[in-house]
Amino acid sequence: MILDLKLTGCRAITMDPVHPAAHTIGIWQGRIVGLDSWVESLPALETVDLDGAVVLPGFIDAHTHLAWNGRNRRTVSLSGCSSTAEILSRLGAAPDSGEWLEASGYDRRAVPLNAADLDSISRGRKVYVADVSGHACVVNSAVLKELPVVESDGWLTEGSQLAARSLRLPYSIDEVVAELRISADEVLAEGVTTCAEAGVGAGLIASTPVEVAAYQRASLPIRVQLMVSADVLHPVGAHADDGITRSIDLGLHTGFGSSRLSIGALKLWTDGGMIARTAALTAPYEGTSNIGELADSPSLMRAAILDGHAAGWQMAIHAIGDRAIDFALDAVAEALALRPRADARHRIEHCGLVRPDQLSRIASLGLVPVLQPTFLWAYGDDYSEIMGATRAPWMYRGRSFLEHGITIAGSSDRPVADGAPLRAIEFMVSRRSSGGRSVGPDEAVSVEEALAAYTLGGAYACRLEDRLGSITPGKLADFAVLGEDPRSSPSIADIPVVATIVGGEWARRS
Ligand SMILES: [Zn+2]
Repeated sequence: MILDLKLTGCRAITMDPVHPAAHTIGIWQGRIVGLDSWVESLPALETVDLDGAVVLPGFIDAHTHLAWNGRNRRTVSLSGCSSTAEILSRLGAAPDSGEWLEASGYDRRAVPLNAADLDSISRGRKVYVADVSGHACVVNSAVLKELPVVESDGWLTEGSQLAARSLRLPYSIDEVVAELRISADEVLAEGVTTCAEAGVGAGLIASTPVEVAAYQRASLPIRVQLMVSADVLHPVGAHADDGITRSIDLGLHTGFGSSRLSIGALKLWTDGGMIARTAALTAPYEGTSNIGELADSPSLMRAAILDGHAAGWQMAIHAIGDRAIDFALDAVAEALALRPRADARHRIEHCGLVRPDQLSRIASLGLVPVLQPTFLWAYGDDYSEIMGATRAPWMYRGRSFLEHGITIAGSSDRPVADGAPLRAIEFMVSRRSSGGRSVGPDEAVSVEEALAAYTLGGAYACRLEDRLGSITPGKLADFAVLGEDPRSSPSIADIPVVATIVGGEWARRS
């Protein structure tokens, strides 16, 4: 046998307990065929001595938004703006490019902004400023005027944000393709080889109803799994014996596709987020009477979970506040009781504020929390204040999940937070925010456990563990090549990613 590629001189951390370390990896037809002595003597078309570089399974970002992230790179960036005047000056300087002026990176917590401010620089355009939370925006009067009766100074959250967003949609397939390519380059630089896109087809962050066509056209250098928005569920006319009342056309559901592009879970939003103070809590945000909000009527959300489960979907339920998580737990328990299914493996996206009593329910229902540790690195100081001393240690847990036997998956929710897995892994170990604050230190995990969340855990959450997540013969040859060993590095976030390999191909090499 002649290998396609042989990597020698590796310090591979395989994440496979059967063969935890390796110095040589043999690759053929995009897959790992053997390690060390199995492949050492085999000839290869290409042999690369990695000179002691650390090789990990490619990182899996189990919840991200590639199109939205790429769009942010193409719109006016307001990140870092510290005054309304600075925002208006950046917006005012943007070239006229049609009917809309779009901006991203705005953070309401730092700077006030309203419709009248935006009118002053609109020059006849509709202005849409996305809040960093993804759950809110500020628009100008020209947009407000077209919305069904909204009492607002320009700040819109959740449902009314969606109404404003809908005025701009759809984007063209080519626009989305361009956005996806920008994001794919970004994630490859961070060692990410697989992304699960959290919600295509409809909803707050959708681009077009024909979004899947953009992913097919883009043929990206990474693997992508698409979560389909539950908003597109509709009656599909299946036989009564199938028990499928609503699904998507052709009966497609979780698992369809190739190892490059596949359909993942059905994504449902049940509440908002902590940045926008719309995550649904059982007790108010500290010092306020606000308990956040559920995303929709409980009966509609419950029906989507029951129908999605019955149609064979893995559900990915966005639930950040503990009240939304209660709702998700009840609905999943009901779905599983009505239609038992082995290893349904439903997911809770974010799973941000988990009360101690909820942990064993998450475990017994077999749910997978898909976490964003970098939220706490970036926003942990703010979140700790709005949750208060009792609840702050319950946020984006690590250790408690593992002690309950729960598999966790790491993710970024890019562009809501920085996407780099190594940054998130460092936080999971240190539990220290960018402001230096200790956030839930009892939830710290080991470096190996944090790495597992971004490899094996991500693969498990995406139901791809048969082919991804570890450097194991037979699995796909996806690797992140690092300049240092995270287990002994004093600064994991700063470790250079020297190369990223997808399916045995050099997708990026520094
Ligand atoms: Zn998201």
